[in-house]
Amino acid sequence: MPAIPHTESYYAASANDKRERPRLQENLETDVCIIGAGYTGLSAALHLLETGFRVVVLEAARVGWGASGRNGGQIVNSYSRDIDTIEKLVGTDLGKLFGEMAFEGGRIIRERVAKYRIDCDLKDGGVFAALNQKQLNHLRQQKQLWERHGHRDKLELLDADGIRALVDSERYIGGMLDKSGGHMHPLNLALGEASAVESLGGKIFEDSAAVRIEEGATPLVHTAQGSVKARFVVVAGNAYLGKLLPELQAKSMPCGTQVIATEPLGEDLAHRLLPQDYCVEDCNYLLDYFRLSGDKRLIYGGGVVYGARDPADIASIIVPNMLKTFPQLKGVKIDYAWSGNFLLTLSRLPQVGRIGQNLYYSQGCSGHGVTYTHLAGKLIAEMLNGQATRFDAFASLPHYPFPGGHALRVPFSALGAWYYSLRDKFGI
Ligand SMILES: Cc1cc2nc3c(=O)[nH]c(=O)nc-3n(C[C@H](O)[C@H](O)[C@H](O)COP(=O)(O)OP(=O)(O)OC[C@H]3O[C@@H](n4cnc5c(N)ncnc54)[C@H](O)[C@@H]3O)c2cc1C
Repeated sequence: MPAIPHTESYYAASANDKRERPRLQENLETDVCIIGAGYTGLSAALHLLETGFRVVVLEAARVGWGASGRNGGQIVNSYSRDIDTIEKLVGTDLGKLFGEMAFEGGRIIRERVAKYRIDCDLKDGGVFAALNQKQLNHLRQQKQLWERHGHRDKLELLDADGIRALVDSERYIGGMLDKSGGHMHPLNLALGEASAVESLGGKIFEDSAAVRIEEGATPLVHTAQGSVKARFVVVAGNAYLGKLLPELQAKSMPCGTQVIATEPLGEDLAHRLLPQDYCVEDCNYLLDYFRLSGDKRLIYGGGVVYGARDPADIASIIVPNMLKTFPQLKGVKIDYAWSGNFLLTLSRLPQVGRIGQNLYYSQGCSGHGVTYTHLAGKLIAEMLNGQATRFDAFASLPHYPFPGGHALRVPFSALGAWYYSLRDKFGI
């Protein structure tokens, strides 16, 4: 029995591969030691192995145990703050580069799934649903923005009838369909990527938390019962990294979000709710997101707990939202409810960089991380292969500590969220 099993979710129950990997109990040498077997770590591992590096991945719990194995499964393009916001921070030239990269993560996922034959219920198509006119106007601008950055032929604005044909809910006044969005079984994606890592000779150890890093020309990463000496270390622990590197902890805050899975709804009801099997997220700051699973459950997520405490009764938070969207699901049984942590930064942009000469990190994508983390792994591999331009672009993003520092970041952020939830409520 591993020290920390997967959280009890629909994904853990329907995982393709329940095999446990060994704990590190020896002293190894390699080219790159990666800390964390979520999408960031696994994507970096795969890209590095494909370019000839030797790789060891250390995972504190199980492959995909963190957000990567618990998330909503929504493949959403771009970043948690959009390209225009980034452009204002970094200028037009770099902004253009961010625009080019904004749609790459989704392509990487599809390429991985095809190349390594990963069985993860991958489906194309994602809908952004507007609850009010302001949100619909914003989607219209977002479409123009994305098209300006080369994301053409994939986007379609939806009026009230258009969205009603895709989502059987009266809540929305319109939306935008992104045909290159999509969804999948997130844990099976991570497990498939882990098998791909091993098929290329990479080693993955579970139940093997990195507890200390001795920095130097060849850093040494210690676990409780072993160590890895490497030329480079990639830190990919995100919201679960804790105090391993205090400088990474200072500028970010773990936040919890919750997901439920209904009982299987049957083909007819599932088809009525989401006739094209697209995933959906609404445009609120504190957003709801939902989709069908491979076996036709509704997977519905939302809710944010600042500071990452697990709420006592997840279903009581999420079910009322689900019934607001789909009152026709009253009485449907909830089979699973779970939560997971993502990492919030004040700017809601990822933190990427280097510590010393040879420790690289990416963290804090603040919500939309499924596509970004796949890109991040590639950028880290490019960096270690001597192509720094794209990694450096992310590393140049400005970051600020939370107001009030470590002690007050939770109340300040909760206050901010309360303000935005009022704006959501009144459509202002
Ligand atoms: C409930 C939920 C729903 C979400 N829904 C979506 C969605 O639908 N679409 C979307 O785009 N994004 C979504 N996100 C965000 C997305 O899942 C994350 O941004 C992404 O998975 C982060 O990947 P990661 O590899 O950086 O971190 P994680 O997946 O959290 O992986 C970090 C791993 O590092 C390990 N670790 C930490 N410290 C150590 C250590 N010292 N030694 C060894 N291992 C360590 C952890 O055990 C963990 O397995 C959601 C997040 C949550 C929590």
